[in-house]
Amino acid sequence: MMQDTIARVRAEIEAYDLTSAEQLDQFRIAYTGRKGQLADLFDQLKTVPQEDRRAVGQELNQLKQAAQTRFEQRQQELEAASANAPADPTFDYTLPTVPQALGTRHPLSLVREEIVRILARIGFNVAEGPEIEDDWHNFTALNFPENHPARDMQDTFFVRREAGEPEWVLRTHTSPVQVRVMKSQQPPIRSIMPGRVYRNEAISARAHMMFHQVEALFIDENVSFADLKQTVYYFVQELFGSDMEVRFRPSFFPFTEPSAEIDITCLICKGKGCNICKGTGWVEIGGCGMVDPAVLEQSGIDPERYSGYAWGMGIERITMLKYQIKDLRLFTENDTRFLRQFESAQ
Ligand SMILES: [Zn+2]
Repeated sequence: MMQDTIARVRAEIEAYDLTSAEQLDQFRIAYTGRKGQLADLFDQLKTVPQEDRRAVGQELNQLKQAAQTRFEQRQQELEAASANAPADPTFDYTLPTVPQALGTRHPLSLVREEIVRILARIGFNVAEGPEIEDDWHNFTALNFPENHPARDMQDTFFVRREAGEPEWVLRTHTSPVQVRVMKSQQPPIRSIMPGRVYRNEAISARAHMMFHQVEALFIDENVSFADLKQTVYYFVQELFGSDMEVRFRPSFFPFTEPSAEIDITCLICKGKGCNICKGTGWVEIGGCGMVDPAVLEQSGIDPERYSGYAWGMGIERITMLKYQIKDLRLFTENDTRFLRQFESAQ
């Protein structure tokens, strides 16, 4: 009898355990779905005798409605419950978070910042200039003669070199910033110029086409070589330690006169002589000199009234000496194993 089947299915539906999404799914397949038992019963309706069909049809409709209502109600309840409940009830919300990995400051930045700090204490401010320079600021204003080898293609990156056009270069040193400072202000001038410079060189452990320099410029009345020496002594001892000694070796630069190379006690052997300092006990850190009066004049400063000194060095060189790094290429390889070593050196 059809009515008996309906009664049995109703009992099953009412008793069906609907506590999980899986059970809800199985319920839909078994009863209310397109191939479920209710669809089956509707199919069988045509076998019911004509006189009973209306009543049985009504009963079947009520059962379908009841099954549908129960399904939807439980579905809503389960959704609401899962939205409020933690995804994983065993998760411990009091656990500390995983710390986010922080980058470390690059050793060149650390040394640059230290240089700026040391010189700021005796009154030097920081000046900056463009990395793409014109020939005049990079060479001419600094007394480089027309045929100086530094102007050669071998050493300098030219940005554009077409007939009749001004020559632009990637600056080969930070000295053009000195020219810009002298042209834009009158003494007293006390500035340092840290920055990136470029040379057309093959990359090796000891040379790179891109590196960093820092220069210091001091111009005022009655500035002498003694002032220069005293500033360099102060700087070297602040940066490398009070036991460091400094010596000046006569040299030549187009933009200073007289000029000298700056040597300091070898940091490896402390002056005893080793293969880093080639047995001399000294290592070179940079160059210096009194600003050539012709350079002052070209930059609009009266050389009769003012004098000044300039000195400069490579930041890579200083960093390699300070941390005993043997290969220049390490600075630009972005190997975090190398870079992380300086974390604690701050
Ligand atoms: Zn040595």
